[in-house]
Amino acid sequence: MSFEVVQIPVWQDNYAYLLCADDGTAALVDSPEAPPIQAELDRRGLRLTHIFQTHHHFDHVGANAALVESVPELKVWGGAYDSEHERIPGQTRVLRDGERATWAGETAVIHEVPGHTLGHIAWRWSNGAAFVGDTLFVAGCGRFFEGTPAQMDVSLNEVIAGWPPDTKLYCAHEYTQSNLRFALHVDPDNADLQALSQEVDALRAEGQPTVPSTLARELSCNPFLRCDTPAIRAATASPKGAPRHDVLGRLRAMKDGFRG
Ligand code: ZN
Ligand code: FE
Repeated sequence: MSFEVVQIPVWQDNYAYLLCADDGTAALVDSPEAPPIQAELDRRGLRLTHIFQTHHHFDHVGANAALVESVPELKVWGGAYDSEHERIPGQTRVLRDGERATWAGETAVIHEVPGHTLGHIAWRWSNGAAFVGDTLFVAGCGRFFEGTPAQMDVSLNEVIAGWPPDTKLYCAHEYTQSNLRFALHVDPDNADLQALSQEVDALRAEGQPTVPSTLARELSCNPFLRCDTPAIRAATASPKGAPRHDVLGRLRAMKDGFRG
C-alpha cells in the first residue's frame, strides 16, 4: 500500500495536502480551512483518519477543531514542542526528532526543523515525499518568527540539505514568483535560477502550482541553501570568514525588506 498526494489550494496561497491511500482512507498534512478539504474528501469518497501537522500557525491548524468535531476519532499527530505548548488543537500523538511514523504502508521520519517556529517539524516519507511546511519554499524559506538564524541554518543547510537530492519537497505556500524576484536579485548570474524563473512564469500564467520542488533543484536555485557561495556572500556583504548562519541571517533580513 502507498498513498497519492493531492494538493488543495486554500485562500490566496496556502496548500493543504490530502494523502489518499489505496484502502479509501486519507490523511491531511496541515488544515487551513475545512470546506475545501471536506469537498475533496467527499468528491473522492475518502474517509479522513489522520492529520499530520508541521507547525501550530493558524493557517496550518485552523480546521482542526471542525474536522475533529465531524470525525471524533480523528488522530492528530504533531511535534513535541507544539504539544508541550498545547498549540495544536486535538493533538493525539507526540513525535520527536528522528522518530518514525507509519501510515498507509509508508514510513515517515520526523525531523525537527526550528526557525520559522520553534516547534516546526518536517515529515520525510519512504516514498520520497517530504512535507516541509513553512520552513522551505520554492526558491525561498519561511520568516524567522521564533527561531534564530543559527537554528534555521541547521534546519535548512544540514537537515533538509542532507536528504536524497530527488526528495520531493511539498511546501505549504505558493510564494515562488515573489521568492524568485529576490533570488534573482541576489544571485543574478545563476543559470539554473534563470531557467527556473522562466518555467515558473509559464506555470503561473496557466494557473498551475509550482510545488512540489525537488531538493536537487533547491540546492542549485534557492539562495537560502546557497549561503556558502561567493555570489550570496557578496550580495549580503558578509565579512570574509563569516559563519554560514550569519550569511543566512543577513540574507533573510534583506528579503524581509525587499520590495521587488
Ligand atoms: Zn507558518
Ligand atoms: Fe503558513
